[in-house]
Amino acid sequence: MQSLDRLRGAAAALPFRPLFWILLYIAAAELSIMLFLHWALPDGTSHTVLTLLDSVLLFFACLPIVWRFFAVKREVEAYRQNEVLMQREHDFEQALIETMPGIFYLLDDDRRFVVCNRNMETVTGYSARELTGKSALDLFLGHERDLFEGGIGMAFSEGRSEVEAQLTSRNGQEQPFLFTCVRTRLNGIPYLTGVGIDIAERQRNARLLEEKTQAIESSNAELEQFAYVASHDLREPLRMISSYVGLLEKRYAAKLEAEALEFIAFAKDGAQRMDHLILDLLEFSRVGRTTHPKSPFDVREAINVAVANLALAIKENQAEVEAPGDMPVVLANPHELIRLFQNLIGNAIKYRHADRPPHIRVECKMVKSEWVFSVADNGIGIDSHYFDRIFLVFQRLHSRKDFEGTGIGLAVCKKIVEHHGGRMWVTSVPGIGSTFSFALPMSSS
Ligand code: ADP
Repeated sequence: MQSLDRLRGAAAALPFRPLFWILLYIAAAELSIMLFLHWALPDGTSHTVLTLLDSVLLFFACLPIVWRFFAVKREVEAYRQNEVLMQREHDFEQALIETMPGIFYLLDDDRRFVVCNRNMETVTGYSARELTGKSALDLFLGHERDLFEGGIGMAFSEGRSEVEAQLTSRNGQEQPFLFTCVRTRLNGIPYLTGVGIDIAERQRNARLLEEKTQAIESSNAELEQFAYVASHDLREPLRMISSYVGLLEKRYAAKLEAEALEFIAFAKDGAQRMDHLILDLLEFSRVGRTTHPKSPFDVREAINVAVANLALAIKENQAEVEAPGDMPVVLANPHELIRLFQNLIGNAIKYRHADRPPHIRVECKMVKSEWVFSVADNGIGIDSHYFDRIFLVFQRLHSRKDFEGTGIGLAVCKKIVEHHGGRMWVTSVPGIGSTFSFALPMSSS
C-alpha cells in the first residue's frame, strides 16, 4: 500500500516540476551561451551570426531536456498502468476476503486488527472502523483468551497454527470458532492472516453423536446382559421339564398307550431342541465379553483345534480339510477364534453335496492392511439372494428334516469377527460350493 501511495504522489507532482526545471535549464543555458559567445567571438561579429550560433548552441543544449521530457512521460504512463493493475489486484483480494464463508483478519505483531472482512463485523458486532487497531485478544475472555493468544503466539513463532476458542461478541454472546492463523510478511514486517470458521453446529452434532453412541452402547450392553441372564435362567425350568417328562416315561411307560408315548417323545425332543437353542444363544451373548482377553494366537493352532473338535464329523463324511502350514499370528480371543473356524468348517461338512465327499480349503491372504481368511467348500452352495440373511440370528435356509441346526452359527461367526475389528462375507454358486471369508486388521497381528 505504501509503494502505491508513493507512485501516486510522484505522478501528481510530475506536470509542474519539469516545467520549472526546463525554464531554469533554458535560462542557465542561454546565459552560459551568451557568456561563451561574448568571450569566444571577436568584437564586431554580426548580429545575424550571433543569433544563428546562439540558436544552434541552445538547440543542442536543450536536447537532453527534450529527451528527459519524453522519458518522464513514459514513466508516468508506466506508473498509471501499474496503478490500474494494483487497484485490480486490490479489488480481487477484497472480493475474495468478502466472499469467504467465515471471518477473515490481518493482525500486526501487537495482535491488533489491520484488516478484517464484513463477516467479522457481523460476528463481533463492532464496525470495521472500531475493529481497526483494536487488540484481537479483547474479543476473548478468561481461558478462551489464553487459548487464542497461544494460537497466535505459535503462528508467529512456527508459521502456522489452528486453535478452537470461544469468541465473545460486543453483546457478550460466546461463539465457538476454529481459527487458522498463518504468519506472513508485508514490506518486511511480520503480520498474521487468519480465518475463523463457526463450529457451533459441528460441536452440537458431535455432542449428539456422542450421546447417541452412548445410548446405543448401553442399550446393547443391556440387551446382551438380558440375553445372557434369560438364556441362563431359562435352562433351569427346562431341565425340570425334561427330567419330569423322562420320569413320566420311565415310571408309566407300561401303562400308557402308544399315542401318549409318542407325545412324551415329542415333548422330550422339544425340550432338547430348546436346550440347544438356549445354549447357542448363551454362546452368542458371550461373544465379546471381556472374560477371555485377546492375546497373540497362531491361526494355524486355531484351525488345528477346530479340526480336532470336528474329527468325528470329518471321519463320518470322509471330508478332507486342506490348510497351509504357515498362518499369521493375530491378536485374538483364542476361544472365539477356534469357535469361528469350527463353525465354518462344521457348516462346510454339514452342508455337503450328496454326490461328493466334502473338500474344504482354508486360505489366508494379505490384502492391503488386512489378513483375509477364507473357508471354501464344494457343498450345496447358497443362492445369492440369502447372502445377508444367513448371518442373522435364527435364520435358516433348510428345515430340521434336511439339516440339523439352530440358525445361530454364522451369527456367532460374524459377531466374533466384528469383535476383532473385522468384517465377514460369503460368495457362493448353488450346486458348486461356497466360500466364507473374513478380514481382520493387521494391527491385530
Ligand atoms: P445352522 O447351520 O444352525 O442352520 P448357521 O447360522 O450356521 O446355522 O447357518 C445359517 C444358514 O446358512 C444355514 O441354515 C444354511 O442354510 C446356510 N449355510 C451355512 N453354511 C453353509 C455352507 N457352507 N454351505 C451352504 N449353506 C450354508
